[in-house]
Amino acid sequence: MALVNDNFLRLPGSYLFAEIAQRVSTYKTAHPSHKVISLGIGDVTRPLAPAVIKALQDATVEMASEKTMRGYAPYYGYDFLLDAICKNDFAQYNIPIGTDEIFVSDGAKSDTGNIGDILSTDNVVAVTDPVYPVYVDTNVIAGRAGTLTDERWSRIEYLPCTAANNFTPELPSRHVDIIYLCYPNNPTGTTLSKTELKKWVEYAAKNDAIILYDAAYEAFITEKDVPHSIFEIEGAKEVAIEFRSFSKTAGFTGVRCGYTVIPKDVKALSADGKKVSLGELWKRRQSTKFNGTAYIVQRAAEAVYSPEGKGQIRETIDYYLENAKIIQTGLEKAGHKTFGGINAPYIWLQTPKGQSSWEYFDFLLNQLQIVTTPGSGFGKSGEGFVRLTAFGNRAETIEAVERIVK
Ligand code: PLP
Repeated sequence: MALVNDNFLRLPGSYLFAEIAQRVSTYKTAHPSHKVISLGIGDVTRPLAPAVIKALQDATVEMASEKTMRGYAPYYGYDFLLDAICKNDFAQYNIPIGTDEIFVSDGAKSDTGNIGDILSTDNVVAVTDPVYPVYVDTNVIAGRAGTLTDERWSRIEYLPCTAANNFTPELPSRHVDIIYLCYPNNPTGTTLSKTELKKWVEYAAKNDAIILYDAAYEAFITEKDVPHSIFEIEGAKEVAIEFRSFSKTAGFTGVRCGYTVIPKDVKALSADGKKVSLGELWKRRQSTKFNGTAYIVQRAAEAVYSPEGKGQIRETIDYYLENAKIIQTGLEKAGHKTFGGINAPYIWLQTPKGQSSWEYFDFLLNQLQIVTTPGSGFGKSGEGFVRLTAFGNRAETIEAVERIVK
């Protein structure tokens, strides 16, 4: 009989969101008249920008005519989008990234998950804790994680991010080859300053390591010293790969578009000791396993960079950031300790009186009818926190905060 990839069987079930859904459903069944408000959602709720809708409509009309319809898209993206990305996300900030170093895709989840295809299973991986679960689970699937004991995989190096270290991970105590960093961070909503990020670039250069930098929440940055791209840091073009997404930037969670930047000088060793360009390997990987992002979607992404698009998208991001401020100010007023929320749509709330994440989740659900996400679901160091998101609608966000303040 054929054999399965046993690594899938090693994965713990997707316990977190299933368990949340179960508890919310039980509560709603028992209290059908109560209004439950979710501050737990990690998905956008505002509609797409009018400029994006117009681009989708125009591109759809093009697909209706024999003369203008498009078939398979180029594997790495249409030039019109690569040019727009290059100009607006990099050249504008004096970051010299070429269009041949950018790879358009259907989103950052796929890219952060798939990047492991081009890296040896012998690499030692480091992740921050708490962490976006995709980084860990995809390494488990690849067979890079070892065995699971007490919520820790034996071959993964965990970098705790706690209130005690101001959510700034310390450099690993043993050699690691691959480092996942996500800033602004999901779930904590915190950031790294340029000085802090520089330490990681220097570590990677010194240790021949590669940084996988997930900047999916870059658009939410409001503070000056927070880098928008790891390539703002000197030397990063030799050691880092950056992932970007239009999902939270422009509400594309249901449209699907993102991109990955792999500068030409990012290299790793082959088994016979040769330095190999990771960009070249990624090209090979994508052209083998991916058939390009839809034309209409890439036209929609291009519209994000139009003058109207930029303005409309800014309004939506500001809307979410205002929600974040309302949540944070309200919680602080009620005597709670919070982190994040200034450069990110996430607020990381320390549970009061030493309650566990799940105890406080239950309290908020059962007493105040508010849904959150227990921090322990993102890793051991998330215990004692819950994550609140700013992606809800304004009126409900205000109502939820009022319930907590009262
Ligand atoms: N990276 C992080 C840190 C995320 O939180 C998310 C979505 O929640 C993603 C990537 C996924 O982005 P995309 O929608 O582009 O796949």
